[in-house]
Amino acid sequence: MRILPATSSLFSRALRYLNRPGVIFRNRGICPTCENSVVFSARNAWFRDHYLCPCCGSKPRERALMRTLELFFPDWPSRILHESSPIKRGASIRLSRQCKHYVPSQLFSDIPLGAERNNVRCENLECLTFADESIDLHVTQDVMEHVLKPDQVFREIARTLKPGGRSCIHSTDRQQTQTITNTGPSR
Ligand SMILES: [Zn+2]
Repeated sequence: MRILPATSSLFSRALRYLNRPGVIFRNRGICPTCENSVVFSARNAWFRDHYLCPCCGSKPRERALMRTLELFFPDWPSRILHESSPIKRGASIRLSRQCKHYVPSQLFSDIPLGAERNNVRCENLECLTFADESIDLHVTQDVMEHVLKPDQVFREIARTLKPGGRSCIHSTDRQQTQTITNTGPSR
């Protein structure tokens, strides 16, 4: 008789199955980020980071962002759109290419707030240098869980939004927030 180790439980075997190399899930659809007809696939059970578009590399949150803009802010290409801490992939690339007044920002430690480096503006969400009521849409993806003073950030967003403006925020859940806040971004 073979004695099975504890890790050979049904649950563990299921986890090993889901984490094995190769595609574990796929489906065909239209990518809201690159607008191509593609087969989305995941090679890891952690869909948040591994369920990708093969064309633009977008993760689910980026596709959710673009779908949200499409539904609630469809004229975003002609508006003044500020994105804090964009990434060189998927939704950020599309926003930068199609929005006529796209303003990307990062918090650089060695240049003044409001200055630019390589067309990226230096901004601190807690004290934005944008004028009152000057922005149509603020976008953040996995940023809010890292800010130290969320109340101040939301005040600044409200101050700088034009009347009728919007803020589209994607953030991790509370449990992850508590873990990630002290360790810095992992994007
Ligand atoms: Zn895509």
